[in-house]
Amino acid sequence: MEKRNPSFAGRKDSNRAGQLTIRVLLLSFFLIIILSLFFHQFYRKLEQSLWEEKQGQFQYLADQSAQLVIQQINEDQRMLLSLVDQIAYLTLGDAVAMLNERTIQWEKAGNYPSITRIGDFLQYTEKAELADGTNLTLFHTVSTKTYDSLLGTLFAGNIFTGYWIKPEGTLLWQTDGSLEGLDSLALDSDETMQLFTSKLDGGWGQFVLVAKRGLSDSISLAILRSSLSMAVLVIVIFFFFLVYLLSLDHRYARNLWHLAYEDELTKLPNKNLFQKEAKQRLLHPRDPYALLILDIGKFKLINDHFGYGFGDSLLLHCAKVLPRYVTRDGLCARLSGDKFIMLVSYRERAALQRRITIIGEELRRFSFPKASQFQLDILIGISLIDEPGKDITSYIDRALFALSALKETKQGWYLFYEEALKDQLLEESELENVYNKALQSREFFIQIQPKYSFATGCLIGGEALVRWRHPEKGLLMPSQFIPLLEKHNLLIALDMYVLKLVCKLFVQWKGEGKPLLPISVNQSRAHLFTRNYEESLVTLVDHYEVDHRLMEFELTETLFLHDLTHLVSVLTSLRSQGFLVSLDDFGSGYSSLTMLKDVQIDVIKMDQGFFTDLTTNKQGMVVIKHVIAMAKELGITSIAEGVESEEQARMLASMGCDGVQGYFYSQPLEVSEYERLLTDNTPRCFI
Ligand code: C2E
Ligand code: CA
Ligand code: CA
Repeated sequence: MEKRNPSFAGRKDSNRAGQLTIRVLLLSFFLIIILSLFFHQFYRKLEQSLWEEKQGQFQYLADQSAQLVIQQINEDQRMLLSLVDQIAYLTLGDAVAMLNERTIQWEKAGNYPSITRIGDFLQYTEKAELADGTNLTLFHTVSTKTYDSLLGTLFAGNIFTGYWIKPEGTLLWQTDGSLEGLDSLALDSDETMQLFTSKLDGGWGQFVLVAKRGLSDSISLAILRSSLSMAVLVIVIFFFFLVYLLSLDHRYARNLWHLAYEDELTKLPNKNLFQKEAKQRLLHPRDPYALLILDIGKFKLINDHFGYGFGDSLLLHCAKVLPRYVTRDGLCARLSGDKFIMLVSYRERAALQRRITIIGEELRRFSFPKASQFQLDILIGISLIDEPGKDITSYIDRALFALSALKETKQGWYLFYEEALKDQLLEESELENVYNKALQSREFFIQIQPKYSFATGCLIGGEALVRWRHPEKGLLMPSQFIPLLEKHNLLIALDMYVLKLVCKLFVQWKGEGKPLLPISVNQSRAHLFTRNYEESLVTLVDHYEVDHRLMEFELTETLFLHDLTHLVSVLTSLRSQGFLVSLDDFGSGYSSLTMLKDVQIDVIKMDQGFFTDLTTNKQGMVVIKHVIAMAKELGITSIAEGVESEEQARMLASMGCDGVQGYFYSQPLEVSEYERLLTDNTPRCFI
C-alpha cells in the first residue's frame, strides 16, 4: 500500500505565510543594515564638520591670544625702554632714587636674558648705561595673572589653557598648572585635548592653546548621537513589533486554519477540508475513485463501557491506520464522531475490495482489555464515483446510505451503494405499516404440508407453513419475508397469528366432526425468549378450547445453542401443559446429538440435508440409522423432512424412521385440500 503524502492547500497557505514572514524579516534586516550604515556615515560627516568648525574657532582664539600677549609684552618692554631712556641721563644715585619709587627692580649690570620666568612671574630685563657710566640692569616683573585676566576677557569660562613657550621649549607662562610639561604638549592631543599654536612675534616664543572639547559641543554631540541611537532603536523596536504582529497574524491564521479544517483529536483533516480537497482531486482524475465511509460499530457502548479515553484511543488507532491505506492521489479525513471518510483511486473493483479487506483487518487489530470478549465491529459504506464532475456531497450521501443499509441488513461489513438499495430500504422503513395492514386484511394464510407414518402409510398430521398474498407482489414464500420480519421484531405477531389460524381450523374441524390430527407450528427464536411465552400460547389455545395434544411446536436447533437452561425450562413447561415439542432441522447443525442429552422433546425432524446423499454415502447411512435407533430408545418420534424420492423414502423406512414429510408425498397444501385428506382415510404412504 502506498504511504500517503498529505499536502493540503491549507498547509500550502501556511507555508506561504511562513515564507512571506521570512522574506519580510530578510528585507527588514537589510533595511536596518542600510539605515545603520547611512546613519553611521551621516554621523561621521557631521562630527567631522563640527570638529573642523571648532578647529577654526580655536585657531582664531589662539591667534587672538598670541596677539594680546605680544601686545602686552611690547607694552611692558616699551615701558621698560622708556625708563631706560629716562634714567640714561641720570647719575646712579638719582636713577636709583627714581627707580625705587617704582615697582621696577634694579641691580648693577649682570648677564640676564631679556624675559625669564620666576615662579608665577615673568621678568623683563633691560640694561641701562647711566650718565656717570654705571651699568644698571632693570627688572620689570609681571604676574602671570595679568595675562590670565587679559586672556580671561577673550575666553569666557576656563575651558582653555594658554601657554607661552620659548622656541627651545622652555615654558615661560601658563594660565593654569594642569599640564605638566612641554613633552606632553609636543605629543599633540589625545581625544579630549587639542593643541593650537600661534607664533609670537620676533620668533622667540610660541603661544599654545590647549582646548578641552567644548562642553556644549559634547552635549550637542551626545544629544545628536543619542537621538540617532534612539532613531535606530525605534526602528529596531518598530521592526520587531512588525515581526511580532506578522507572527501573531500568522499564528492567528494558522489557528483559524486548524479550527476550520483539522480534527482536534486525530489531527486528520475534517469534513470541510476533505470536501474542498476532494473537489480538486476529482477535477482531473487518472483512475476511477471510490468514496469510503467507515463507522465503528457500537462506539457509544465502547465509550460507556471502557471510558471516553479508551474510545479516543480507538479513534486515534483508526486515524493512524487509515492514512496508510489511502492511495497517493487519495484523501482521508474524520467525518464526524466515529466516522472516517476516505477517497481512494482504484483500477479494478477486485483491487478495491482487497484494499477494503486489508483496512478492515488492520483496524480490527485494535486490542480491547484482555478480560473483555469485545470484538471491534467495522462497517464500511462505499460509493463509486461514476461522474467525477458531480458534487462530492452526493457521493458522501450515497456512502452514508450504504452504511445505514448495512446496519439495517446486518449482512456483511461493507456494502457498495446501488440504486436498488434505496427502494429496498424504503420498503423496509414501510415494512411495519405494510405488515400490520397485511395482518388486518388477512393477507397472511397457511398451507399445510401432510406428514405420513411409514408404518401405516396414513396421515399423522401436518405442518402449518405461512404464506403472504401480497397485493402487489403476489404470493410470497416465507424465505421472502421471514428474515426481514425477524430483523424488525415482527415475527412473534405472525407466529401467534398462524397459531390462531390453526386453532380456528381445529374449532371448525371439531364443529364439522372431522378427525383431528396434530398440526405443528413453527416458533421463531425471538418468540421463545419473550416473557410469559408459554402463558401466551396456553391462553390462546385455551381460548379456542383446543386439545393441547393436537398442538405441536417446532423449534429449530440453533435456538438451543443460546441459553440451554432457559430453553429446557420453557420446553419442560410446554410439555407439562401437554403440548408436543419437536426439534426442527435436526442434523443441519453440529449440536443435534448433544442436544438430545439435555432436552426432553417429543419429535425430531431430520433435515433434508441430513440424507440427500443417503444412497451414496454409506457412512451417513450408519449415522442416521443410529440416530433413529437412539431416538426410538429415548421415546422420541423421528420424522424425515424434505423427502423427494422413493429411494430416500425406502431407505429411511428401512432404517426404522417413524414418519415422513416431503414433496415426494405432498407439497404444502391449501387448507381445503388438506381437509380432504383428513376425511379420506386411505393410506397414501406407499413404499
Ligand atoms: P421448515 O420449518 O423447515 O419447513 C419446511 C420447509 O421445507 C417448507 O418450506 C416446505 O415447503 C419445505 N419442504 C417440504 N418438503 C420439501 C421437499 O421435499 N423438498 C424441498 N426442497 N423442500 C421441502 P417453506 O414453506 O418455504 O418454509 C420455509 C421455512 O420458513 C420453514 O422451514 C420455517 O422455518 C419457516 N416458516 C414457515 N412458516 C412459518 C411460521 O409460521 N412461523 C415461523 N416462525 N417460521 C415459519
Ligand atoms: Ca418446521
Ligand atoms: Ca425443517
